[in-house]
Amino acid sequence: MSIRFGNSCLNCENLMEVNTCKVHSVQVGNSYTCDTFEMKAALKAEQNCISCVRFEASDCANPKKAAPSMSCNHWAPKNASA
Ligand code: SF4
Ligand code: SF4
Repeated sequence: MSIRFGNSCLNCENLMEVNTCKVHSVQVGNSYTCDTFEMKAALKAEQNCISCVRFEASDCANPKKAAPSMSCNHWAPKNASA
């Protein structure tokens, strides 16, 4: 399984106030995630290479194809905390 630092509770639609998960009813942190992870709608809307933390970085999965209108399944938001 690949490790994806964009899939944290911080970026999940199910995160409520005071860091409580709507699905599990427990407090979570930004280093947590689970199989019910659901990307926030606002992040989904801006999912492209320009908003990707890997754009023009050495760990970009598709450096020859990366462009403003593109994205791939290695996309991770720039504001993700690792
Ligand atoms: S525990 Fe899962 S469902 Fe809950 S906020 Fe985190 S990723 Fe989302
Ligand atoms: S090709 Fe993939 S990894 Fe590279 S910048 Fe675009 S979305 Fe990110």
